[in-house]
Amino acid sequence: MDFGRILILIPLILLSFVSSNDSHSIIRMRTDLSDSYAGVRKIRVDDSLYCDSWRFVIEANDAGKWSTVPKRCLEFVKEYMTGGRYTSDSEIVADYAVAFAKTVNVSTNRKDAWVFDIDETLLSNLPYYRDNEYGSEPFDEASFDLWVDSSVAPALPASLRLYNELRKLNFTIFLLTGRTENQRTSTIENMLFAGYSGWEKLFLRGASDLGKLATVYKSEKRREIESAGYTIHGNSGDQWSDLTGFAVATRSFKLPNPMYYIA
Ligand SMILES: [Mg+2]
Repeated sequence: MDFGRILILIPLILLSFVSSNDSHSIIRMRTDLSDSYAGVRKIRVDDSLYCDSWRFVIEANDAGKWSTVPKRCLEFVKEYMTGGRYTSDSEIVADYAVAFAKTVNVSTNRKDAWVFDIDETLLSNLPYYRDNEYGSEPFDEASFDLWVDSSVAPALPASLRLYNELRKLNFTIFLLTGRTENQRTSTIENMLFAGYSGWEKLFLRGASDLGKLATVYKSEKRREIESAGYTIHGNSGDQWSDLTGFAVATRSFKLPNPMYYIA
């Protein structure tokens, strides 16, 4: 082999080394990506991550109407409701509601109003749902009505705190619930049992309200309140149907509820 050929071969040999290393790094890179995709797939099937995202979607009302908690999320919802996060989320909602309430210039004419829903807002039906699979079973109206009649639902502590703060600030408080007129006595008994008092009026569904969507029924009642000369500054509820429609409050405060949906 003459010197000229050696000069040509040396760069070719070096190139083959570099090329080999490049190929190796490309293969490694593909392997690494493949590993990370596998990781993503693994996380995607993880119930905890899925159910956390599901909870976000239903709280944001992105899912629209839904009927029951997915079975795979039963444990997640149970943990959410009983493990401290529900309490924490509710407390922070109440903090923002109190902060807003303090910015309102409440007049002495008693016309500054706040509207509260009752179930999963002022009262917690968690003892009932604990015995009924946290909303992962279809709603059973008969057993829920028996629970309502027992009048022993505890207060949602964050909402009781907000309620009492609003009374101190001289807001006039209206209770607006999807419960029916035949539940008036048990509802009042339960509210007093849970530590609430001093509301202006309790609205329940009367005969002419039966069959109406909650959004419509509640909007009509809010309009009634406004027609009586009140300004509804705040509205607290666990359902979007408590808060949307017409005659909406200046500020609406959505409480968490991953157990059921009311249109
Ligand atoms: Mg409610």
